[in-house]
Amino acid sequence: MKLANCQIGEKRFIGINFNGKFIDLSKGIEIYSLINEREERRFYKIEDLLVLDNVFKYLEERIDFIQTHKLEALLSIDSPKILPPIIKPSKIVALGRNYLEHARETGYEAPKEPIFFSKATSSIIAPEEAIIYPNWLTRVDPEVELGVIIGRRAKKVSKEKALEYVLGYTIVNDVTARDMQAEDLKIASPWFRSKSLDTFCPMGPFLVLKEYIPDPHSLNIELKVNGEIRQKDNTRNLIFKIPEIISFISMHMTLDAGDIIATGTPSGIAPIHPGDIIEASIEKIGHLKNRVVREEE
Ligand code: MG
Repeated sequence: MKLANCQIGEKRFIGINFNGKFIDLSKGIEIYSLINEREERRFYKIEDLLVLDNVFKYLEERIDFIQTHKLEALLSIDSPKILPPIIKPSKIVALGRNYLEHARETGYEAPKEPIFFSKATSSIIAPEEAIIYPNWLTRVDPEVELGVIIGRRAKKVSKEKALEYVLGYTIVNDVTARDMQAEDLKIASPWFRSKSLDTFCPMGPFLVLKEYIPDPHSLNIELKVNGEIRQKDNTRNLIFKIPEIISFISMHMTLDAGDIIATGTPSGIAPIHPGDIIEASIEKIGHLKNRVVREEE
């Protein structure tokens, strides 16, 4: 079951990909509320669901209702615009060098503890939106990463309990201004700006609830440029696994519901150019496609 933030015209709603077709889940929930509850509940985007104690159980009941009452045709939607699964998280925390082969290709060994940095939330774009390539850069690389979406506030959580704080998973493309990052590394400046340029964080298209991915450490992960494979690995090769990452970050800062963790990229980083089509894919989650466009003068 794949959830997406959708838009048609000015109307926003939560869509669910149901046997390859989109269903307006927001409307389905509204109908369920009218019939079964005194109070009408409305949810227009995935973030709105974060007030619920158990999103999975809540949605299962409503989806079951939709199927039992054969409402699929009534709720069916043709080709909505897909927005990022979380439109404005409070933060994006990204892991550096979290696959051994990638650490080595950048001249390092496996880190002793997770290396994390931030990407500005203003860099987020939706699937199919353009990655804008600024004229003054000489090298930009895409990085496919498994994205973890936090479901409830996590502060100093243990490894054992960490997965309880996860809502689900998505795909993040951690686009990086590699030339700028190299210059900043030389003078011990943070990675923040090279990771945070506008449009440098394509995300989506789907949020898959964690209940549908019992083992997030067994997923094939891949990145193609113009149809050619650049990165290919499996999340089993993550150096620091998701529970350890969440626990470690939450010892330093509170993770809020809706926050995104990008878990690091596999080896195979290489430059992209204006005109390229970038496709980031993760098994059981989907395909995230974006075009690279040169910034207009
Ligand atoms: Mg990265």
